[in-house]
Amino acid sequence: MKYKRILLKLSGEALMGEQQYGIDTKRLIQYAHEIKGAAEQGAEIAVVIGGGNIYRGSQADSMGLDRVQGDYMGMLATVINSMALQSALEKEGITTRLLSGINIQQVCEPYIRRRAMRHLEKGRVVIFGAGIGSPYFTTDSAASLRAVEIEADVVLKGTRVDGIYTADPEKNPDAVRFTHLTFQDVFEKNLNVMDMTAFTLCKENDLPIIVFDMNRAGNLRRILDGDDSVGTLVS
Ligand code: UDP
Repeated sequence: MKYKRILLKLSGEALMGEQQYGIDTKRLIQYAHEIKGAAEQGAEIAVVIGGGNIYRGSQADSMGLDRVQGDYMGMLATVINSMALQSALEKEGITTRLLSGINIQQVCEPYIRRRAMRHLEKGRVVIFGAGIGSPYFTTDSAASLRAVEIEADVVLKGTRVDGIYTADPEKNPDAVRFTHLTFQDVFEKNLNVMDMTAFTLCKENDLPIIVFDMNRAGNLRRILDGDDSVGTLVS
């Protein structure tokens, strides 16, 4: 296996599937299957899931709400998604632990690094909810930070596009996919991989990122097997 310990970042929006809002059960089950496959391969898996299918802090202004309040609402949205994913994984027979960046002790453990490491060593899938627990950050930043903290080998950013392109492939049919980019290339070409805070954290800690299509069955397994035709590697 090419990567032993992975941090999988899934966006909240991806969980909507074809819907306009909320959680598409079919998509949720599909993701649980993919993660189960990777766990059976022997990978140690941590997951960060966004909350954009429910709420984003950036919506607060237009609703006349306080931005910080909005960010906490967004963090709670990620906990809802994390709980849904936890339940779907457990239905698949996978042992999981949900660790939250803000204390919600009736439904999940608080985030404690050593505890997260122990869960991973024991083969449990660890889900990090509530981002990093602070406003003005995103779940991409949470993914990078937690990945560095738990000494993950790679951040796998699962999207609905199969990598990083020269232009938006959904708008420009001539867009070409990169198979490998350096961190510097991403800066110079001004490519949108993650927000800058998240990206810089990976760069400074030499943590590779793979952007790949999570909706294509088997992709997660292929990446773990070392198939470098899947997605775009930034290292
Ligand atoms: N958020 C935050 N701090 C964090 C992580 C998330 O304040 O550490 C809030 C922020 O408002 C964000 C929302 O939670 O907009 C949902 O996360 P995100 O937008 O990253 O979700 P995604 O785009 O991946 O669905």
